[in-house]
Amino acid sequence: MRVPTVSRAADVRICTNARRPVGLRPAATVGRVTDPADRRPLDAARVRAQLGAVPGVGRVEVVATTPSTSADLVAALGREPGKWPDRSVLVTDHQSAGRGRAGRAWQTPAGVALTASWVLRPAVPVECLGWVPLLGGLAVVRALADVGVRATVKWPNDVLVDHPGRVELAGWGVRRKVAGVLADLVPTSAGPAVVLGIGVNVHQAAAELPVESATSLRGVGVEVDRAVLLAGLTGHLVDLDTRWRAASGDAEASGLARACATSSATLGARVEVELPGGGTLRGVASGLGPDGALVVTEASGRTRTVLAGDVRLRLEGTRTA
Ligand code: ATP
Repeated sequence: MRVPTVSRAADVRICTNARRPVGLRPAATVGRVTDPADRRPLDAARVRAQLGAVPGVGRVEVVATTPSTSADLVAALGREPGKWPDRSVLVTDHQSAGRGRAGRAWQTPAGVALTASWVLRPAVPVECLGWVPLLGGLAVVRALADVGVRATVKWPNDVLVDHPGRVELAGWGVRRKVAGVLADLVPTSAGPAVVLGIGVNVHQAAAELPVESATSLRGVGVEVDRAVLLAGLTGHLVDLDTRWRAASGDAEASGLARACATSSATLGARVEVELPGGGTLRGVASGLGPDGALVVTEASGRTRTVLAGDVRLRLEGTRTA
């Protein structure tokens, strides 16, 4: 069966907690970002201590460098699924070959980004799993709100913030990508698992960002301890995931669909969708389907549904509704 917004072989990234974790600094209290301590390597003991305060987290592993935390977990689940229980986390200080969708790259220098992946084993119908990347994006939005950063989600997997100078960029408007999410569906002997990968640009200076459409928390004037951000994100992820599972994966009943719509940069906006077989679909993003797919209404009034694995989406302008 096709699982709409989850890529088949590998990737994405982020998470939650209703309480602000100790150490997250709201924008107003954030100093300039020249402190070399901001770039100190991730301290495994500190990461464990922060995550220890989040209920329900499984195994926690911290590695100095790896090509891709998601690729690692996908492979590990294939080899030894029992060793990676539900809500395990793998985080690295440097992801050297991070992945986006459709073989695209997620590029982050050492020591400046949050790059982590989570194992999720939700006992929900497989057709509901397309909500996992959207749940991840929402968890990022909430974790960033805790540090005073207003973010939205460009369906299905980009977390955006406004450019401080509100400079327009074609296809992005005044928005820039601060985080990306990627979900890999992994069949295991114990049933399907999802590896949810999240990358957040934290301390990068402008010259360290790979594309013009990228920004970092530093770029919007906020410095955050990555271990604390990881704990905050994980808390929100666990919270959203728990509610969604309690509704058996029903995004409407759990409130997930409404929350995703509220935090969406896409719904109500004019969009341009690059279709997998070629061609471009233009219209207004008018809703989310029951499986998390994007519904686009063309000028003719015809509606079409697009699946995350298939599309590249550009925002043509600001929201129309
Ligand atoms: P787009 O970002 O063009 O809308 P997409 O949503 O499909 O496409 P993904 O595949 O999720 O993008 O992410 C990979 C893309 O993100 C890369 O092709 C590059 O344009 C961009 N990118 C790579 N690294 C970063 C980063 N650290 N921060 C922001 N954007 C990045």
